Amino acid sequence: MDRGFLFGDGIYEVFPVYNGSILGLEEHLKRLQEGLDAINIVNPYDKKKWTSLINKLVSYHQKNSKQAIYLQVSRGCDDDRKHTHGTLKPTVYMQSSPFKSPTKNGLLKGSAAITRDDIRWSQCDTKATSLLANIMFAQEAKNHSVEEVILIRDGIVTECSSSNLFLVKNNCIYTHPKGPFILPGITREMVIDCAKYCDIKVKEVAFNKGSLMGADEVWISSSTREIVPITCIDDKPINNGKVGAIWSLIYDRYQTIKSINI
Ligand code: PMP
Repeated sequence: MDRGFLFGDGIYEVFPVYNGSILGLEEHLKRLQEGLDAINIVNPYDKKKWTSLINKLVSYHQKNSKQAIYLQVSRGCDDDRKHTHGTLKPTVYMQSSPFKSPTKNGLLKGSAAITRDDIRWSQCDTKATSLLANIMFAQEAKNHSVEEVILIRDGIVTECSSSNLFLVKNNCIYTHPKGPFILPGITREMVIDCAKYCDIKVKEVAFNKGSLMGADEVWISSSTREIVPITCIDDKPINNGKVGAIWSLIYDRYQTIKSINI
């Protein structure tokens, strides 16, 4: 009778952990709070308690491994399967799994993506556990042997099935603005910080598929994939299929931020 199971009525977070250190702990906990607020679930724990629970889970694993801590807060168990609910005790579920991020050399080969209509709801900024559209897109990517599905809503490129998207044109980085149509990625924010550090201009503006296909560089970002250059979209090469120099700069800066954090 858990509403997380019955309805996908819950919020989740994924925290990347490097050498026992959580990257972006504060930011992920803040987004968790915002998600819970958005669907009226009272956060069962404060920041201190979350931090100690996550660190406890981290401590069960080898220190030098990369871990992704997944946690979910569902609205809780009811005594009946009805769509509406009263006040329930939220259920907390946590797990840790190892993850691999590719080496820079591996990434320099470039990755492919396909585009699809963004049929998701209009509250994509809420990290809800109900991910049916996202997982269907992810499966399509797998079936096509590509890295990601790039989503397009009313002609505008929003983000991907489980990552944010950036393009580079004339040495300026573009990404969809925050709002109801994208998840405000923690890595997206870090990429913007990296760009500022490297003195590269970032514009958070909407762009269409034509701009995407004509870009000098395209990348995706997420906590567990970091920053992946996309060199082929819908079977067409981007920048003649070559990984760009700005990706390389931002990628290196991101690795530095990671090591400062550890
Ligand atoms: N957009 C979507 C739809 C996602 O599922 C994710 C990853 N959970 C992201 C963007 C990237 O977010 P983050 O950088 O916080 O991992």
